[in-house]
Amino acid sequence: MDYSSTFWKRAAGYTLLLCVGLALFAGWRTVSGAEGTAVPALTPTPAVAGTAVADSSLTPAANDVPVLTDNSLAPAPYPHTYQGKLPEHNYETYVVERGDTPVGIAERFGIQTETILGGNPQLSQESSLLQTGVELIILPIDGVLHGVQPGDTLEGLVSLYGVSAEQIIAYAPNNLEFPYRLYPDTKIMIPGAVREVFVWTPPSLESVRGTGSGVQPLVVGTGTFIFPVGSRNFTQYFWYGHPGIDIALAEGSAVFAADTGTVTYAGWNIYGYGNLIVVNHGNGYETFYGHLNGFNVVPGQVVTKGQVIGSSGNTGNSSGPHLHFEIRINGNRDDPCWYVGC
Ligand SMILES: [Zn+2]
Repeated sequence: MDYSSTFWKRAAGYTLLLCVGLALFAGWRTVSGAEGTAVPALTPTPAVAGTAVADSSLTPAANDVPVLTDNSLAPAPYPHTYQGKLPEHNYETYVVERGDTPVGIAERFGIQTETILGGNPQLSQESSLLQTGVELIILPIDGVLHGVQPGDTLEGLVSLYGVSAEQIIAYAPNNLEFPYRLYPDTKIMIPGAVREVFVWTPPSLESVRGTGSGVQPLVVGTGTFIFPVGSRNFTQYFWYGHPGIDIALAEGSAVFAADTGTVTYAGWNIYGYGNLIVVNHGNGYETFYGHLNGFNVVPGQVVTKGQVIGSSGNTGNSSGPHLHFEIRINGNRDDPCWYVGC
């Protein structure tokens, strides 16, 4: 990334603002017939809009109308009085090819699979972005490339990622020097860190068994699972950044309950799953069916293994019609391929 060009673009922007401001001011002086030629100091610079100029010249009474000033538009003579060194990162990129897996890509570049997530935060939600043609950032070492937000501090990054300040400072491309100021819109490498993946927790079995007409009987699944759709066209497998498997198939295809259980969730999910069904199997297992376009069940309903619970779709963070299928055991994500075969 070329930060020096950003600086010059900003400098050019300020210069342009200054010129426009002076031109507007000069125009106003001419129209109102004032003879003074002295150019006033830069501050305060009234930020006069085009319409305001016209009004004040036409009706003298309008001069009594207070002119709104917006000092944020007045250019500071020296916008950057202090500017430390900015980070200068170099990393490779890799365009995902058909059949690639995160594990395979990580092995090829000699990094941990988690580091693929460290360089590509857009993968941290159910996004199915690891698809052919997508360009990934491949970090040179294991860790997380953190996008600096306003208000970020070195101490904040230390507590967020649980690594030492020395480790972050010692990474030369971060260009950190005392007093270790961080600049928004730059990136700081956090060596050895792992980007946290947000895990959404569905409602508990107890919370839905008590709804409707009294408490439903506890239904316990068989502990084995059938494949939830009639397609085996896998577009993404299970890995740290993607807690399930994606199976491409036509929209509107039947989705089957992988085992007997109780529906704990059937609705829109804002965390990327789109329309989602979750079945709790009463034995510690839960199955997730994401990106649906239709529901055949409601929360609290008991479903049997193989029953049609909904239809597949392309809702939520989805780049094509597919089912996202996920299995959790006691709240922990497991690779569905271990249970249903891939
Ligand atoms: Zn998925």
